[in-house]
Amino acid sequence: MSERLDDALLGALLAAVPDAAFVSDSDGRIAAVNALAEALFGYGRGEMIGLPVEALIPDRLRGSHGQARGGYAKAPTARPMGALSPLPALLKNGEEILVDVSLGPVPTTRGARILCVVRDATERRRQEQRLCQAQKMEALGRFSGGIAHDFNNILSAILGLCDLIDGESGDAAAVSRDVADLRAAATRAAELTRSLLALSRRQVLNFRVVDLSGELMSLERPLRRMLGERVELILHADPDAGRIKIDPSQFEQIVLNLVSNARDAMPEGGPLTVATRAETGPEGSKYAVLSVTDAGTGMSAETLARLYEPFFSTKPRERGTGLGMSIVHGIVSQCGGTVQADSRPGRGTTITLRFPRAEEPATSAHPESPPCAELSGRESVLVVDDEPGIVKLLTRVLSGRGYAVAGAVGAEAAIA
Ligand code: ADP
Ligand code: MG
Repeated sequence: MSERLDDALLGALLAAVPDAAFVSDSDGRIAAVNALAEALFGYGRGEMIGLPVEALIPDRLRGSHGQARGGYAKAPTARPMGALSPLPALLKNGEEILVDVSLGPVPTTRGARILCVVRDATERRRQEQRLCQAQKMEALGRFSGGIAHDFNNILSAILGLCDLIDGESGDAAAVSRDVADLRAAATRAAELTRSLLALSRRQVLNFRVVDLSGELMSLERPLRRMLGERVELILHADPDAGRIKIDPSQFEQIVLNLVSNARDAMPEGGPLTVATRAETGPEGSKYAVLSVTDAGTGMSAETLARLYEPFFSTKPRERGTGLGMSIVHGIVSQCGGTVQADSRPGRGTTITLRFPRAEEPATSAHPESPPCAELSGRESVLVVDDEPGIVKLLTRVLSGRGYAVAGAVGAEAAIA
């Protein structure tokens, strides 16, 4: 076999390539081309011979391409298809398409040449986009289904309780019991909305500097209530764990999500440890660490790999929305922290959150808000909201405290 290709052999090879292909000389001019290249770029027979390679590249990229070509000519190596992709290419009619390109040096009897094979990537890109869109729609469908289902349950409870209350007008004790249930149902709805807002990052964030251990201990009661008797909650709060910067209501969401996952993993009950500690990273950076450890089912490698994926859940429909860990991950990342999951099937799970330590003093827990019970007056108040129920409620509350109240639904009504 000869070491250098002559024109005939080169032409035969180009003709056999199943993609658009051409060979350029040391000046960057096209020296040989196959029919597929002429067809792809829209040139007639022989029209491409002698053109500078830059003619196939959009104006705005020509300058940088010239440099890149010069560099490549000095040290040419074979680059596989897709290695330079997807790149915009310019057709003869001025249209741009995206192409995958592969390059390789070819020694010919006329000297060193560069072989360039080009594949139209437009269709591939279109299919990728269509797939991505389909996946988004599927996720959205699953998501709305889950939300609608949860909200429906809560609304059924609320409506049912309203009916009960209607029939109990004489019995004050029964009414107040039902109102308590009503409040619990509405609180669940509010929590659901809060998760949704957290997920869509639309929540109004109220960052504060808080003591990690103190914040954890303030959740002890709700945690115990949520866990029931079978699960033994062990809290190891190190008072020197440090302070972190976070929205306290988001902190609560994180802990509740992690603890409820731990509970779900221990259907027979067992120990659930929530601990805090201080840690110093290899570069001296300081972290306040929160870990949640259960002795439950643990996770397979497949589950671990998809743990933070929104909507990923191994639980039955009515138990899991698959949003918990994605929310935890979102919130912790927003605080500049990291989430680590250690788990093996049958061996339980530890989730470790590392927050950068805040050096500032803790923000006072409750910025002075006027004690509501003492609020009363004779002034005139205009109540504006776009939700008629809210306007009605506020109007009633404020009138009850002596104010002269005018209600308006929406900004236009208010201005009028
Ligand atoms: P959900 O709890 O609604 O299913 P999450 O995002 O909170 O959604 O968790 C996703 C999945 O990760 C769960 O369905 C479960 O399979 C797994 N998982 C999370 N935490 C644990 C844990 N502590 N032990 C075992 N599996 C867990
Ligand atoms: Mg969960």
